[in-house]
Amino acid sequence: MHEMALMGDILNIVGTNAKNQSIRKVNKVHLIVGDLSNALPDALEMAFDIYKRQGIDFLNEYSQLVIHREEAKAICSLCQREYVPDQRIAVCPECHIPTGRLISGETFKVDSYEGE
Ligand SMILES: [Zn+2]
Repeated sequence: MHEMALMGDILNIVGTNAKNQSIRKVNKVHLIVGDLSNALPDALEMAFDIYKRQGIDFLNEYSQLVIHREEAKAICSLCQREYVPDQRIAVCPECHIPTGRLISGETFKVDSYEGE
């Protein structure tokens, strides 16, 4: 499950930032997860719970992970039509050729976090 590694990176980023801001408890971590980002929200939740139970100092049992999905969108470079691709190779529903350029859906990042 590569979400364990992804979540490990996320918690490192949040932890380092929280330390710099003198935040000792992080109550909520908001993540943006694109539909094409290769990270499964369920697996991310699970990974977060596992790290939480391992006793990370800035998390407590009430700390929450909030996942905001980002819809996949592509734009056709021929007809400029915007559509929802079902994979990274985006085939335009109008032109029927893979002319699509992804404009969203690949994001995987920390949006913000709340702490005290
Ligand atoms: Zn097209």
